[in-house]
Amino acid sequence: MHRRQFLGRAGIAAAALSSPSLLAASAARAATPAAVPASTAPALGGQAFAPTPPLVPIKAASDRIVAISVCTRPFRAQGPRTEREQIGRKTVVHNYGHGGSGWSLSWGTAEHALRLIQDMDERELAIIGCGAIGLTTALVAQRAGYRVRIYAAERMPDVRSFLATGAWTPESRICSAEHATPEFERRWADMARISHRRYQTMLGLPGDPIEWRDQYVLSDVPFDQPMPGAESGEPEYPVLESRLTPELHHRSQPIAQSAHPFPVPYAKRTTNMVFNISSYSRMLMDEYLQLGGEVHTRHFESPRQFADLREKIILNCTGYGARALLGDDSIVPVRGQTARLIPQPEVNYGLYWRGHNLSVVPRRDGILVQAQGEHDFGDDSTAPNAQLTYDAIAQLAKLFPALG
Ligand SMILES: Cc1cc2nc3c(=O)[nH]c(=O)nc-3n(C[C@H](O)[C@H](O)[C@H](O)COP(=O)(O)OP(=O)(O)OC[C@H]3O[C@@H](n4cnc5c(N)ncnc54)[C@H](O)[C@@H]3O)c2cc1C
Repeated sequence: MHRRQFLGRAGIAAAALSSPSLLAASAARAATPAAVPASTAPALGGQAFAPTPPLVPIKAASDRIVAISVCTRPFRAQGPRTEREQIGRKTVVHNYGHGGSGWSLSWGTAEHALRLIQDMDERELAIIGCGAIGLTTALVAQRAGYRVRIYAAERMPDVRSFLATGAWTPESRICSAEHATPEFERRWADMARISHRRYQTMLGLPGDPIEWRDQYVLSDVPFDQPMPGAESGEPEYPVLESRLTPELHHRSQPIAQSAHPFPVPYAKRTTNMVFNISSYSRMLMDEYLQLGGEVHTRHFESPRQFADLREKIILNCTGYGARALLGDDSIVPVRGQTARLIPQPEVNYGLYWRGHNLSVVPRRDGILVQAQGEHDFGDDSTAPNAQLTYDAIAQLAKLFPALG
């Protein structure tokens, strides 16, 4: 059963061809019999299980790694800092500390930051930082009619944001459970809704910056049985999305073992948004420049140097860099290591295997394999641990025994 529900070798070869009709015809032949029809899918406790469409196996091999990267999530227990303060003669709006949710919340947090200067007549802004938050904040400001200059030590693709996984994860390490106050939750839900709406306007664009993809969650034990998660040893994080923005949350459907191809007893399927960071960040940068934006390379040692800038309003979007720049120890580094495997455009699903430290996102610029270490919280080291990635890829290969 397992093998039959992955596309066979003929199907994979067809997928490499560009003709959609060839692919469809060949896939139909290769995948015989196709996934269990819904009407005959097994039921448990009266619940029908959704069958799995034929899936192309992932080529999980370490010789397919094109890059291993390490990036530091800028986590703050109290949530992102979106605050206005006066530093000398400059009005500074801070917009940093978005943990593992910076891409997901970027459009919402940009709007929130700009609301803090609504009362000012000034129409020129300096933005410090050219990562996910700086660049998105710059675009939202331009669209609102501001003239914007970005000052940053690094720009895309040499910023930390470029190394993220690239999935809609708006509640990932965004604050600790004890700081999820009603006020924070209201702010978070608004940011999530603004961002989500904006992302739907970027579907189907050239380069597929944003896509929706199926995601399979796999488990060796029933889902109601707890498993040590990748986040053990970290603070307790709040559950936000399913509770506060249920309309954005895609519930997962259980799939009977006989109706999915993975050699594990328990599986669920959900759907999630993927950010193809290479094309998406290029798109953001292009639009920023087309709207007259400038990027100046500059490293600030201290906020006193803000006085050198000609703009009176400064948006500080320095991410993890704010820790050193402002001496803000509330920012805790959370190390994250990812690897990209040679792209397989025919792989159109993601994976998360509970308890095995493994998550996979099917990006256009490569199959993204994330491997979580045991002591990532508080770790600011950026040297890759190649063995961690090799282990994750070996684990991934176990899901595709027919390719071994
Ligand atoms: C492994 C990993 C996976 C992740 N996956 C996801 C995901 O799937 N989805 C999601 O939504 N989020 C994800 N995140 C989180 C997300 O990547 C971050 O929240 C986001 O990148 C933060 O963006 P930023 O613009 O604040 O910071 P950065 O990308 O670090 O940008 C900071 C900018 O400020 C500049 N800067 C800093 N200090 C100074 C200074 N002193 N002077 C001048 N310039 C300075 C830098 O040069 C840079 O331009 C992930 C993070 C990690 C580590």
